[in-house]
This record gives sequence, C-alpha cells and structure tokens, in this order.
Amino acid sequence: MKNENNIDIVGGGPAGLSVGYFAKKVGMQAKIHEASSTIGGNCKTIIDGEFKYDTGAHRLHDKSEYVTNEIKLLLGNKLKRVTSPSKIYYRGKFLNFPISVSDLVYNLDLSSLIKIIYDNILTRLRKRPLPESFKQVAYQSYGKTISKMFLISYTEKLWGEDADNLDPTISGGRLKALNLRSLIKDLFLIKKTDSDHLEGAFYYPEQGFGEIFNALGKKIGPENIFLNKKVCNVYHDNNKILSVSDNNGENNFINNLVYTAPIDELVKSLSPAAPKHILDKLKFIKYRELMICVLYLDLKSFSPNASIYFPDLECPFTRIYEPKNRSTKMSPIEKTCIVVEVPMGERNMKIDSAKEVVYNKILSYLENKNLIKSEKIINYKLVKVKSAYPIITRDSALIIKEIKKYLSRFNNLNMIGRNSSFEYLHTHNIMERSRSLINEMISL
Ligand SMILES: Cc1cc2nc3c(=O)[nH]c(=O)nc-3n(C[C@H](O)[C@H](O)[C@H](O)COP(=O)(O)OP(=O)(O)OC[C@H]3O[C@@H](n4cnc5c(N)ncnc54)[C@H](O)[C@@H]3O)c2cc1C
Repeated sequence: MKNENNIDIVGGGPAGLSVGYFAKKVGMQAKIHEASSTIGGNCKTIIDGEFKYDTGAHRLHDKSEYVTNEIKLLLGNKLKRVTSPSKIYYRGKFLNFPISVSDLVYNLDLSSLIKIIYDNILTRLRKRPLPESFKQVAYQSYGKTISKMFLISYTEKLWGEDADNLDPTISGGRLKALNLRSLIKDLFLIKKTDSDHLEGAFYYPEQGFGEIFNALGKKIGPENIFLNKKVCNVYHDNNKILSVSDNNGENNFINNLVYTAPIDELVKSLSPAAPKHILDKLKFIKYRELMICVLYLDLKSFSPNASIYFPDLECPFTRIYEPKNRSTKMSPIEKTCIVVEVPMGERNMKIDSAKEVVYNKILSYLENKNLIKSEKIINYKLVKVKSAYPIITRDSALIIKEIKKYLSRFNNLNMIGRNSSFEYLHTHNIMERSRSLINEMISL
C-alpha cells in the first residue's frame, strides 16, 4: 500500500534512527530496514559482563544547542556533562590535546620552539590560499613543525592516505590556528592567558553512548524497526524509487526513501542498473575499517583522560580511550578497561589479521613504553568496526559529486549519514540534518 506520509529508511544506525525519530514526532510513518540484528550502527555500547564500552571513543560534541537539548529531553538526568581532557602521547610525554601553547613551552626543546614561532610568523605573513588538502589546512593552522610532529603522521595512520591527498574536510573543522601571542608570552614566562585553559568538556550518557540511540529506537517503536533485513535491490523508473527488496526477498513499495547505508551500496543495488560510467567510479569510493581491542584491566584506573592520541608511526594504533572516564558506570569500581583503536588496511594491519597478532602488537608497544604491565590484563576482546570512516581524498570528493548528481534524479530519495553522504559527520550533524529533512518533507 502506498501512503503519502510513509518513509522507508535503510539502516538503523544514528542516521536512520534520527530520521525515524523526527518523522514519528511529526506524525509520519517511518519503517526502518536494518541489515544486522541490532540497532545503533557504529555507535553501539557493548556490554560484556561487568564492563561496558562503545565501538570507538564516542562523546556528544556540544556543538548544536538543538541536538543537545533534544538528547537532554530524551535521557533526562542520565545525560551527564563530563570534564576529562585528552592527551597526545609524544616521545614518552603526555601533551595536551587540543595542542596547548603552555604545554609546548614546557615540554619541547628551545630549537623546536623557535622553529614553531618562525613557522607561525611566516604562516601569518604569507597570503593564505584556500586549502586544497588536509596537509595545507594543518600547515596553515599550526605551521610545518607542529604539523609534522603531531598531525600529519596521526592523520595518515588514521586514514591510510597521504595527507596531501586527503580532502580538507577530514579535519572536521577542528584545527584551530595556534595562538602565537600566548606562545610568545609563555616562552617569556609572561602570565598565562585564558585561551590556554584545557578543553575537555562534553556530554555522555550514564550507560554508554549507545544509550542515545537505544532511546531513539524506543520512541520509534520496535514494531517499526525490522532487523536482519538487508536491502539488496532498489527498483526505480529513472525519476523515482518505486520499491526495495531485502535479503529475504520481501518487497516494499516506496513513497519516500531515506538511505543511510554506504552510498556505493545504493548505486550497486539500483535496478535497472546505474550507467557504466557511474558504476566504474565506485572503485574510488572506499571506507576505512577499524579494529577495536578492549583490554580488561585489574587496575582501578589507567589514566585520568578521555582519550590519548598516538601519532607515533611505530605504534600500531591511533587512540586509546577509557570508558570509566566518561561514566563510572562503565566498569566496576576496582577494575577498568581501555579501548584501543587500530586502523586496518594496506598501510597498517590487514583486516583479516589473526586476533592474537593484533593483540600482541598492541601489547608489545604498550609494554615497551611502560604504559601497561601484561600481568594486569585480565582478558581482551577484538571487535571489527566496518566502514568506520569514508576515505575522503581530493579525488573521491570530486567523484562523489558526480555520483550524487546522478542520484539527484530520484525525487523521492534522500541520503543522510556518514557513509551515505560520504562526509566526515558526527552524530549531532546527522541529527540536525535529519530534523531539517523531516521539516522540509512536512512543509511540501
Ligand atoms: C572510532 C569512532 C569514533 C567516533 N566518535 C564520535 C564521537 O565522539 N561523536 C560523534 O558524534 N560521532 C562519532 N563518530 C561518528 C559516528 O559513529 C558516526 O557519525 C555514525 O555512526 C554514523 O551513523 P550512520 O547511521 O550514518 O552510519 P552507521 O553508524 O554506519 O549505521 C549504518 C547502519 O546501516 C546498516 N546497513 C548497512 N547496509 C545496509 C543495507 N543494505 N540494508 C539495511 N541496513 C544496512 C548497518 O548495519 C548500520 O546499522 C565516531 C566514529 C568512529 C568510527
């Protein structure tokens, strides 16, 4: 049966659930088709005995007042404001993240500091063109010396691409230019300015980040969420999506389709097939896979930090986070666990590496740097995070525009979400876009 107000949503991750939630709020009927057996996509909280952890170092960035307030309404006092600064592990030292001027002054040698000041004066004197790559964004924000020390190696390890091939958008707009005035003031031991204070406040649900998406799922209602339904075919007449069918062969007529799964999957599932020149472009659309390794520790605490970043190329992982520092409910009082994020791919460990190989590499780095003693590890678990990041290179950013242009012919199709829009989005961006989409739909 067709109904003007129906929306079918492919994917039950943050994007699909947000669209479903806002649709339900305005009285539209929304049906979610989710390929796996659970909702939450890449934002799940896994419960393992007395421990809980998220599939990555998630936090609610308080960047959208509307979204933060909506989540406060949903979770009430279960949503906590947490203050826990992050660090960068650099040559045996823990430096502040985001990069802090006073820290550099106290932890780097004089010659590095002079280079940093020189770079930054040069950067400000030179005319700054619009950056075309991540490398240019980093150089323009921090100068060459700091970029090479912390940003370039970390970014290349995370994305598996050269920094000058990566699109500027992968910085997520988070690289603030270094405050040169405070650097000089600190160097000459002049009183510190307010701009030097640590940034480390965010929101986090008591029972893990996944609690937000479970709450959205509850509001949508289990009767509207269809699990283990992988949408495999999307039928159309060149202007409109007509129906979708799933892995069980079930067919659904479509009034409005919101697609939140990876964009290349959508193009491949079109019937009649997309033109060859579009299908040929899909080989340039790639996603970064991640392995998270959870170490259960017989320790009250590993560190006081929200996250610790590891730019060192010898190190097989990019980041460690300790769930207990986001909510004390995540681990028992006397124990803790840490979640180690390992990017997988050609330049790093292979996604099909044996679990022991991944674990042993992590352990050997941590032991070598005296960050952990193996006798404190009670157990470990490895979890794959598929399609964690769309790899937005300068080339793929152009190709994706062509693909989106082709898809724009379908007037009842919308794409929302990180891999469907092929943008480096966080959940607050996704929720904002979902709300706007529903508002647009009801105003038509
Ligand atoms: C390590 C890491 C840390 C992060 N930290 C933060 C953070 O601190 N704050 C923040 O806001 N965001 C963070 N993010 C980003 C956040 O996880 C993503 O923005 C979010 O998961 C994207 O949601 P989505 O619904 O677009 O996609 P996904 O989460 O990938 O969900 C897509 C869903 O679609 C389903 N699906 C796929 N194909 C089909 C199909 N054919 N048919 C039906 N269903 C299908 C999948 O099973 C999945 O459930 C982080 C991400 C990672 C990887």
